[in-house]
This record gives sequence, structure tokens and C-alpha cells, in this order.
Amino acid sequence: MSDLIVNEAIKIRRILIVRYGEVALKGMNKPYFERILRDRIRNALKKLDSEHKTIVETDAGLIVVRGEGEILPADEKAMIAQITRVFGVATVSPAICLYDREIAAISDAATGYLRDRLNEWRAALPKALAEVPAEKQPPMTFKIAGKRSDKTYPLESMNIAAQVGSDILDVLGPAVKVDVHDPDVILTVHLRQREVFLFDEKVAGFGGLPLGTNGKGMVLLSGGIDSPVAAWLMAKRGMTIEAVHFHSYPYTSGRAREKVEELAGILAGYCGSFDMHVINLLPAQEQIAAHCAEELMTILVRRFMVVVAERVANLTKCDMMITGENLGQVASQTAEALVCTDAAAKMPVMRPLIALDKTDIIEKAKEIGTFEKSIEPYEDCCTVFLPKHPATRPHIDQILEAEANIPDLEALIESLVASRETVRIRPL
Ligand code: ATP
Ligand code: MG
Repeated sequence: MSDLIVNEAIKIRRILIVRYGEVALKGMNKPYFERILRDRIRNALKKLDSEHKTIVETDAGLIVVRGEGEILPADEKAMIAQITRVFGVATVSPAICLYDREIAAISDAATGYLRDRLNEWRAALPKALAEVPAEKQPPMTFKIAGKRSDKTYPLESMNIAAQVGSDILDVLGPAVKVDVHDPDVILTVHLRQREVFLFDEKVAGFGGLPLGTNGKGMVLLSGGIDSPVAAWLMAKRGMTIEAVHFHSYPYTSGRAREKVEELAGILAGYCGSFDMHVINLLPAQEQIAAHCAEELMTILVRRFMVVVAERVANLTKCDMMITGENLGQVASQTAEALVCTDAAAKMPVMRPLIALDKTDIIEKAKEIGTFEKSIEPYEDCCTVFLPKHPATRPHIDQILEAEANIPDLEALIESLVASRETVRIRPL
């Protein structure tokens, strides 16, 4: 266990408490997950702290973020915003860390904490109420939640809460009042081995597992709504991401490609920098259009994408592929069409959106910040050579027969793989 006290002169300091949900369940591997999570948090905070004064340490089942002195090394809200984007983080609490565990010292600190909350609470009152004299204003209600991880401490949790609550009332009453059922503020007093944490707020993170703890996935990234969400969901489970994007230049524009790079940049804000392989699919689309039935165009193009993506994925040592496919959403995603697409690859293809409704996918896209970029109206390669009546119930035999009509299929596939242009995507 690390020692939070680096400077005896410091009696109290502002910290951030980070809880890590599922990582805590990882048994034997826990130290490994904790170390990676700490690294990810450190990394996420780098841009806010050019002097590298941020200290991130694991302490008795929590991660504590602090500076060297009494204050945090950067703006608290900005730090919390960064930390809650790190996969594996369940919640973050801005807190006070008090090194004096005497009950009188705890009550003093708790009173100061609640006084700050009271001022904020009053400032947020409706105008009519805020203008009446302070003694006529309604009281702010509060509750103290006691928690004790040091079982040798002379007071039990309930007694800590009762004592601190009554000391606060002595000083701040009648401006504040206890309400154990539905209080305005719940102040937690967490008594630990060497220090006390005081906090009243928990900001939710995304949960999941730290990035880099679960293989590497090649996402087939279009400019649409679905595939960025699919990639994000897999990254949230700890998977490192790499991407392949197909375009049909000059049918699709340079601006359409830039849009996809920007979209990828938003993803990189969560997943860190990654490679995106950009491939012109037009030579394949032309061959398919020339040699196969029009109604099969969509499904054949989709299979081609999968085959080419798989080869690139093998070259870059990916474990699996990821698509934004969703059951029944469009003609190429009926059960029958998905069976045909799936048969194109040996590598497992993850489809994390398969059973979601579009409204839920859109909600997620908005939450992670990709939606607005995704709906910018640029062409996609799938809209080139679009059949009037795509086959919705293709059979794999029919598909294989159609593909057999394409001359030099293998050479075509290899030429597309070789033509790829790899760009480094960095967080926007
Ligand atoms: P999205 O919103 O992700 O574009 P979609 O609903 O438009 O999905 P399709 O166009 O049928 O669905 O594409 C299904 C999946 O195929 C996409 O989620 C993506 O993974 C992949 N895909 C489609 N177009 C491309 C492309 N141009 N480059 C790479 N992958 C693509
Ligand atoms: Mg699409």
C-alpha cells in the first residue's frame, strides 16, 4: 500500500477518488488490471498537467489522484472529465483527504465541507427564495454516511456519522437540518487506515475494462452511425482498435474520406491513437458489376470488404474483426445476408450492435460524441452501384457461384490489400 502522506506538513488535501468496478473482480489478475488502469489515467491527465505533478496511485482498492501539495494539479472538473472517459473507471469523486483522524478534526473538516455546499445550494435557490433574509430561508437537508475500513478505530460507522452530524448542527444549524430519507446532500465520511476521505458526489464513468487488456480488433469503419459505436463498445471491453475504411474514389469524395478520419479521431479520444487502413474498393465494385447479377451487388461487395479486411487484419496481428452490422436494419443485414457475409471470413467477426434498436444505437452515438459527425451528409462507397432491388434472402451457393464468375479474384483481392494506405489517427 502506498503512503498518501508525502509531506508531514500537509494535514488536508483535495484528491480525486477513482473506483474501478469490474477490475476489482479480476482475482489473480487484479494487480495487472490496476497497473494498466493507472497508466491509462495518468496518460489521460497528461495534457492538463504539463509539469507532470499528477500522482496516481492504488490505495486499498481505490485509485487516488492527487498533486504534491494541498491542491489538485489541474482544474478539478477538467480532470474528472478526462478520467471518466478512461475505460475501466466506474465512478470518480472529488474529495477531501484529511490526515488527522481525531473526531473533532473530522467534524471541523465536515462542517467546512457542508458550509461550502450550503453556499452553493443557496446560490442555486429560485430568485424569490434567494432574496429573503438568510434566517428565513429553508434549511438545506443533509445526511452523514459513515464508513470505516479501519475496524480498530474506536468509533463504529454509525457513531462516527452521529457525532459528525451533531457537531455540524452545533455550528451550522438551523441553516442545515438532518434528513435521512431524502437529503439535499449526503456527505460520506470514510475512515481509513491512516486518513479520512470526505465526499458527497460520484460522477459516473463508462465502466468496462482498461484499454489494452483484451486483444486487438480490426473495425470495418464506415462514415455511418453504427460502426463507430461498435468499435467504441469493443474498446470499452479492453480491446485495442485498428480500422479499415473503404472508399470508391472518385465516386466518393476526398471530403467523405476526411469525415471518416475525423470520426476516427473522436474514437481515438477514447482508444488512443491507432492505424486506419484506407482502401479504394472501386476496382472490386467494377468487376462485380461487370460479372455478377445486379441484385447481389450489395452482398458481394460486403463479402469483398470482409475478405480484404481479414487479410489486413492478419498482417497486423488482429485477433478479430468488428462491424456495426445489426439484424434486419437493411437489406444486407437480414439473417440470410449475415450468414453469407459471415462465411467470407475465417477470423471471428464481432457484431456488438446485432440486437440493438437503432434508437439505442443513436443514443449511444450521441453519448460518445460521434453522432453529429456521422450524420454529415457525405457519400459512402456502399451507395455506388446500388442495386434497385437488392436480394434480401441470398443463399451461400448462389453467392459462391456469382463470385466464381469474377476473373482473377485472388489477384484482385491481393491488389486491394497491397494498395492500402495507412494513416495514423490521433485524438482530435
Ligand atoms: P454504418 O452506420 O456503420 O455505416 P450501416 O447501417 O450504414 O452501418 P452498412 O452500410 O450495411 O450499414 O454497413 C454495415 C457494416 O459494414 C458497417 O457497420 C461497417 O462495419 C461496414 N462498412 C460499411 N461500409 C464500410 C466502409 N465504407 N468501410 C469500412 N467498413 C464499412
Ligand atoms: Mg454505412
